[in-house]
Amino acid sequence: MIIRRATLLASAPNLAACPSSDFPEIAFIGRSNVGKSSLVNMLTRVKDLAKVSATPGKTRLINLFNINGDWTLVDLPGYGYAKVGRDDRAAFGSLITDYIQNRPNLRKTFVLIDSRLTPQQIDLDFLEGMVHFGLPFGLIFTKTDKLSRTATQVNVEKFMARLGEISDVKCPVITSSSKLSHGRSEILHSITAILAGASGIAGESETGEAVS
Ligand code: GDP
Repeated sequence: MIIRRATLLASAPNLAACPSSDFPEIAFIGRSNVGKSSLVNMLTRVKDLAKVSATPGKTRLINLFNINGDWTLVDLPGYGYAKVGRDDRAAFGSLITDYIQNRPNLRKTFVLIDSRLTPQQIDLDFLEGMVHFGLPFGLIFTKTDKLSRTATQVNVEKFMARLGEISDVKCPVITSSSKLSHGRSEILHSITAILAGASGIAGESETGEAVS
């Protein structure tokens, strides 16, 4: 997929305030500071489309970006910033789950995981919720330029092992660095497949079976 056009469609505080749309949607979410804004800018190649946060946890809006007049990229607020109070976190959580569970045209949610870190309970808890409600997701490990290839791979494997304890569900898994523009074509390829009705897992057909 070539991204020719990316424009802000709406910024909304909750699902009810989001304009209804027939365009298929792909959402991105992750812990605050995981590198989500940087990834959105890297994917669209629009420098400041999503604001890279000087103050982590500040952006609490759902941002909808129309891509090529074909589909919508949904930038969901980051979850779990420590300095946000417990009540705020709960409200935040429900805002996110409301969107993910009830947006009819949402096709898949990419959950971003910081590849520098060992498995974080907050990410596993979030994914457990996705699995519990049968919501389709993919994983993008961010900031891979920060560690050696081997160290990154160790963290990815540790995370996948922990996720495997929760569920045997298969999902796209992509490593990326916004700084180096790594993972861009894999993510766009996966999105193309999802929009075409497939799982978005490399090497799988629309029915989810492996293709040779
Ligand atoms: P968000 O809060 O999830 O939207 O994260 P941001 O995109 O605002 O990034 C948080 C911080 O991580 C910023 O200082 C970014 O410059 C940095 N960052 C994001 N992606 C990368 C990456 O791929 N590599 C490196 N080295 N830093 C990154």
